[in-house]
Amino acid sequence: MRVVDVAIVGAGFAGLAMAGALRRAGRDDIVVLERADDVGGTWRDNTYPGVACDVPAHLYSLAAHPNPHWTRTFAAGGEIQRYLRDVAVRENLGERLRLRTPLLGARWDADRAVWHLDTGAEPVTARSLVLACGRLTEPHVPAIEGLESFDGALFHSARWDHDVDLAGKRVAVVGTGASAVQLVPELAGRAAHVTLFQRTPAWIVPRGGGDIPVDERERLADHPGDLARLRAELYAEGEQRFASRSGEPAASAAAREIALDHLHAQVADPALRDALTPDYAFGCKRVLLSDAFYPAVASDAVTLEPTALVSVEGSTLVAASGARHDADVLVLATGFASAQQPYADLVHGEEGTLAAHWSDGMTSFGSTVVVGFPNLFVLNGPNASLGHNSAVLMAEEQAAYVVRALCERDRRPDLVLRVRPDAETAYTDEIAAAAASTPWLTGGCRNWYVDHRSGRLTLLWPGTVQAFHERLAGADGSEFEPARTPVTGSIPTHPHG
Ligand SMILES: Cc1cc2nc3c(=O)[nH]c(=O)nc-3n(C[C@H](O)[C@H](O)[C@H](O)COP(=O)(O)OP(=O)(O)OC[C@H]3O[C@@H](n4cnc5c(N)ncnc54)[C@H](O)[C@@H]3O)c2cc1C
Repeated sequence: MRVVDVAIVGAGFAGLAMAGALRRAGRDDIVVLERADDVGGTWRDNTYPGVACDVPAHLYSLAAHPNPHWTRTFAAGGEIQRYLRDVAVRENLGERLRLRTPLLGARWDADRAVWHLDTGAEPVTARSLVLACGRLTEPHVPAIEGLESFDGALFHSARWDHDVDLAGKRVAVVGTGASAVQLVPELAGRAAHVTLFQRTPAWIVPRGGGDIPVDERERLADHPGDLARLRAELYAEGEQRFASRSGEPAASAAAREIALDHLHAQVADPALRDALTPDYAFGCKRVLLSDAFYPAVASDAVTLEPTALVSVEGSTLVAASGARHDADVLVLATGFASAQQPYADLVHGEEGTLAAHWSDGMTSFGSTVVVGFPNLFVLNGPNASLGHNSAVLMAEEQAAYVVRALCERDRRPDLVLRVRPDAETAYTDEIAAAAASTPWLTGGCRNWYVDHRSGRLTLLWPGTVQAFHERLAGADGSEFEPARTPVTGSIPTHPHG
């Protein structure tokens, strides 16, 4: 039986960051399993008009693969996808990257201290398993009465149907989150008319940015030091945003004013402004960046329906207000099932599935390792998301922690890392204490950072990236149980064997 050192599941930003970190640490014995036919994750799947990052691309990229060639401050999704393909090539993953290879099941074999992975084809056995399966991968489709009766084209923003020609069509969009704010201005320029169903307005601040001139790109390519300085400045700006997003009174009040001024400057009609003004605390939901959304909504091209879509009768869409709107195309920009991930059902640890361990919401130590799941790491899972800075930074911090933990594992006679239950409990309590008075829990909104089964903040890391870095750097291996008796199976004990 061939045993690979590390199996990584998922080839988005996190999986590629993990593969790169392992290889740079001299750990070449890896496989990356990706169910799709391409790398990229989020940026492969989201191809809706206007899709782009909302963190400047020079920061929203991997530190090991700085890119001086970004053509826009907030790169379009297609450009990010091309970047990630290029990263996969530069990481020279070769046959280590297995596309069209889904993880269908993973089972911990305590006797041999390995993970057995079912991929539907050739099984994989690995000493360690890294789940980099993402958290915004499964489109959330709300329960709307009669949705199946809609007689036009119907699709989710993350599964855009490019075969549908929008010219001359009446398009309805459900939702006013991050995707809707990007796609509505684009649709307003293409469709005959857009109706936007808004259950809850978002806090929106100016975006700025724009095209990056060729000479600026050449300068950054010629001067890697300038590119590194730019990244450092963007990082620091991002970190400063934490105060306003986490409810620090002065910073939140100032950011709220900026958002309200932005609304006032872009929407002249007081009734429309009222409808677009959130009634919950700044930061409670993800704060959005857009210069184009309000002008689009205020234009004749868009009708704002300020209540939720509750039922569908053929081509007629009925809002909670009772208003009826006819549409030819219905776009669900309704976000993702983020708190309960399907991969958790697939992974069987020492006493059951990850989903069972997380039945009350995700828990972990260090947002990365989980009690009952030896030699297993989760990237971008419990408490690893951010509302103020680049998600890629968190994946990179986690990848560095995984490399350190594997070095710790190699020193153990049993080659097994088991998180101590009290370490996970203490970390979970730390998160709860840090989150207790933040707008994410007290701001009067319903957001996807919270697991509604328990009311706990399970998606978001309630601190800065620097604080996360320090928390993980401070973990000294004592979060794991002492080594047990060495395994006696036939697996060679050389860590890279
Ligand atoms: C439209 C959109 C815009 C965003 N913009 C930003 C932004 O501007 N800034 C920011 O910080 N974050 C942003 N995000 C969050 C974004 O998801 C993260 O920044 C990042 O891309 C997540 O990377 P990931 O590798 O963790 O997950 P993903 O990119 O989701 O990749 C996970 C991969 O795992 C694969 N996979 C899952 N399950 C299995 C399985 N069982 N077997 C095999 N493979 C599997 C998937 O196919 C996928 O390729 C955005 C998200 C969306 C949806």
